[in-house]
Amino acid sequence: MKAHDGMYIDGAWRPAAGTGTIEVVNPADEQVIDRVPAGTAEDVDAAVRAARAALPGWAATPPAARGALIGALRDVLAARRQEIAETVTAELGAPLTFSQRVHADLPVAVAGSYAELAAGHVFEERIGNSTVHHEPIGVVGAITPWNYPLHQIVAKVAPALAAGCTVVLKPAEDTPLVAQLFAEAVHEAGIPAGVFNLVTGLGPVAGQALAEHEGVDLVSFTGSTAVGRSIAATAGAAVKKVALELGGKSANVILPSADLGRAVATGVANVMSNSGQTCSAWTRMLVHTSQYDEAVGLAAEAAAKYGDRIGPLVSARQRERVRGYIEKGVAEGARLVAGGPESPRERGWYVSPTVLADVTPEMTVAQEEIFGPVLSILRYEDEEEALRIANGTVYGLAGAVWAGDDGEAVAFARRMDTGQVDINGGRFNPLAPFGGYKQSGVGRELGAHGLAEYLQTKSLQF
Ligand code: NAD
Repeated sequence: MKAHDGMYIDGAWRPAAGTGTIEVVNPADEQVIDRVPAGTAEDVDAAVRAARAALPGWAATPPAARGALIGALRDVLAARRQEIAETVTAELGAPLTFSQRVHADLPVAVAGSYAELAAGHVFEERIGNSTVHHEPIGVVGAITPWNYPLHQIVAKVAPALAAGCTVVLKPAEDTPLVAQLFAEAVHEAGIPAGVFNLVTGLGPVAGQALAEHEGVDLVSFTGSTAVGRSIAATAGAAVKKVALELGGKSANVILPSADLGRAVATGVANVMSNSGQTCSAWTRMLVHTSQYDEAVGLAAEAAAKYGDRIGPLVSARQRERVRGYIEKGVAEGARLVAGGPESPRERGWYVSPTVLADVTPEMTVAQEEIFGPVLSILRYEDEEEALRIANGTVYGLAGAVWAGDDGEAVAFARRMDTGQVDINGGRFNPLAPFGGYKQSGVGRELGAHGLAEYLQTKSLQF
């Protein structure tokens, strides 16, 4: 698609207040593919005013009618699947088949789920002598990252609209084109003017202006823990609700009774998917000492097979960070068994699929989020030690447990301090609540739980 040179505010593309622009660069060949306007506080203010003006009408629209419009949005996204995939491939670098299957199809599924949930949700209930109304919180400021750029937009906008809220979106500066495409889809679906508004721009400028704006009732943020912490502090000072989806350092726990080959192969695929730029990736593989050497061999082999199949990282800055982590891992005593810090290609921000063995729990690569195709393999002597290692980071977003039977894996998963656990390779469920324990976040996205985040209750006593 061709980039717009304005902001989508109050149902139309309007000129930006300032003259600054942001270059959009293709990570696979480092070429500038387009430019979008760099929004200012003035653009944010115009967007918030539009969202506020549209709020009473949208909140009063019957939920089934809101659901029907979200359904229309879903249909537009489905019809523009190929264009979405090509746009994400161009600005994020993901291989086209992955963009089609995940970056384009997942948002369609999530939008479809909210078309149904809006119509079926119980917005009014009777408790004793009270009627409790679940009312929209108001104007939502949504700030999203670049790693699943359309999914993260839809995972905020669709439930917010289903709840009767209006939205101002500030997408990531690395991937603004698919956000503009989304605004076009909102328009095409016939969603009323002002219900959804888009301001592209830099985080510390447009993002911060949105998080601080007094006309915003709820800030919903997905991104790094550092920025999330500052957004939460700002929102807290203003007594404003905040939802945070932050980083992760998830454990893939392979118990001795598990099918080791399957657990390792799935674990490597999980980490390499989207070039390792997945907040819920199982970046720490925990293996019993009796199976350790075999698991390391299998993981190195599986990573090597990925070779050319993974895309680049999103930016030069991100690639430098990831290479720095690999070097630090080796310097702290980890053993490199696949990949490494060298660039595998002359052009593009690629990092080879990398596996570090002999990683111990206190090493930097076992504690900090790397956000690249890097797997660390750790050794444990018994289940209690595995649990201590699994729970031994500040994060708690996701994880996996493998065992001979589901019951054994579930017993272990129940003791993990984390928001999502895949049992013996269980599939991602777009209706199950997604979100973090500890510093991985506050609040939940997806499904009915995601919708509830955008509602507040009013109790009437009779
Ligand atoms: P980031 O925090 O730098 O940026 C995220 C968004 O916040 C962007 O839109 C950015 O412009 C904006 N932003 C930056 N500074 C801001 C400020 N001062 N005020 C307001 N907004 C600001 O993160 P990133 O590097 O773009 O994304 C990667 C991080 O996101 C990783 O840590 C990853 O784990 C996390 N993430 C979490 C989830 C989840 O669901 N938990 C999903 C995806 C990504």
